[in-house]
Amino acid sequence: MSGVVHLVGAGPGDPGLLTARALELIAQADTILYDRLIPVTALDGARPDAELIYVGKEGRGPQMPQEEIDRLLVEHGRAGRRVVRLKGGDPFVFGRGGEEALVLRAAGIPFEVVPGVTSGTAAPAYAGIPVTHRDRASAVALVTGHEDPDKPESAIDWPALAAFPGTLVFYMGVKQLPRIAEQLIAGGRPADQPAAVVERGTLPGQRTVVATLETIAARAAEAEIRPPSITVVGDVAALREEGTRWFEQRPLYGRTVAVTRAREQASRLAARLRLLGAEVVETPVIRVVPFDVRLSRFDFAAPPDRFSSYDLVCLTSPNGVRLFFERLAEVRLDARALFDARVAAIGPATARALRAHGIVPDVLPERAVAESLLYALGEWPVERALIVRAKVARDVLPDALRAEGAEVHVLELYETVAEPLTDGQCDAVRAADYVTFTSASTVRNLLSALDGDATALAGARLASIGPVTSSALREHGLEPAFEADPHDVDGLLAALVADATAAPR
Ligand code: SAH
Repeated sequence: MSGVVHLVGAGPGDPGLLTARALELIAQADTILYDRLIPVTALDGARPDAELIYVGKEGRGPQMPQEEIDRLLVEHGRAGRRVVRLKGGDPFVFGRGGEEALVLRAAGIPFEVVPGVTSGTAAPAYAGIPVTHRDRASAVALVTGHEDPDKPESAIDWPALAAFPGTLVFYMGVKQLPRIAEQLIAGGRPADQPAAVVERGTLPGQRTVVATLETIAARAAEAEIRPPSITVVGDVAALREEGTRWFEQRPLYGRTVAVTRAREQASRLAARLRLLGAEVVETPVIRVVPFDVRLSRFDFAAPPDRFSSYDLVCLTSPNGVRLFFERLAEVRLDARALFDARVAAIGPATARALRAHGIVPDVLPERAVAESLLYALGEWPVERALIVRAKVARDVLPDALRAEGAEVHVLELYETVAEPLTDGQCDAVRAADYVTFTSASTVRNLLSALDGDATALAGARLASIGPVTSSALREHGLEPAFEADPHDVDGLLAALVADATAAPR
């Protein structure tokens, strides 16, 4: 039986502009044939056993011939696979999607087309340029700038295009920009009409040059604008300077931030950094390895099954919460197992994780360090405590509770182990404007990934989540640029934004 080929648009580059349908198909695909201009994270959700085939153009290098791509599509489709052909932007807008659909039809292979957000409207939108506007443009033309306008056999009717009553959007036109502008002016388009070029639209490094049709080519050359870029010609291009720009206005725009925490925890921090405009490089130096533990039902079940009970259950990390509830579920228990215990959470992220399981922590120390929890417990006596945590955590809390006369059980659910970085990731850390450290082990592990070479971090500002992390940095002769307060992700982001705002580039 033949499979199905999905011709899928991946949007212009910002991972947030992948459609729900695209993500769903990527997650299901057996085979994914992908181009160069797709979002960096587009393949993250692919199945681990999916076959990923790169068919794009590498820089200026040779592109896989279209016949070869067609052949692969047919071959994988015939083999009964679920194939995703993933393209930048929209597959039917200068994406060869139409040609590929015809090839599939001829081969008798069923296909589906999933439109994507096309760069021709998205790049201008992220530059603050609406391609239509009630008073300034009632039509928009999508044009390929690929062709040499001086070629006699050019498929483009330049005089007609010059006379087009609306916005012109050129794809692939950077190299031809001088000729395009000349031809349009020769065809009667006003030389002083606003024009803009948007490079790497919707991506963290997006740059925009605004000028007039007459000057745009020179201005773009001065700014060393490179592909991929979109050129917009029309009165709408002036709106950006009149107040519609927004993307470059975001506080971390133009900054590269390395996130060193474990992949399991990095996504929330990374997503929020991206929303603030940062380019995020994920360089996880830690991996969470759960232990093979089985809880005893008798410790947690409701009376009369209950064997004994804790009057304090203390959780110290979101990973601990997640794994604790997984272990409880294995012995068919849930949040009710903690019904008569006081529950303490170290840090707001742990508290949030607990709330997601229906538990509002009774004790939430103001600062996310173990000492602060002891303080928060105050005069309240503890007889029997359970501390749920990772293997490497410090012993301050159990020791102190024992010193107060409590019987303390420590339940170690996981350990964090060092994760080596690839050479590319090491380079990315070296080039980053900011490197974020969210625990002492991120400091130690990053340095060991860099072969102990602290000078690799000399060009970056080091962001520390709290005092323990800062001490770890200082032990390696590194000084944090700032320390978050409160010692959590919110505090870290606020401190980063404050630092970036205070030191504009
Ligand atoms: N199917 C794609 C276009 C493919 S042609 C789409 O719908 O967007 C490749 C051209 O698209 C590039 O030369 C460039 O002009 C444009 N392009 C793609 N991604 C871009 C981006 N992020 N910013 C600016 N232009 C982009």
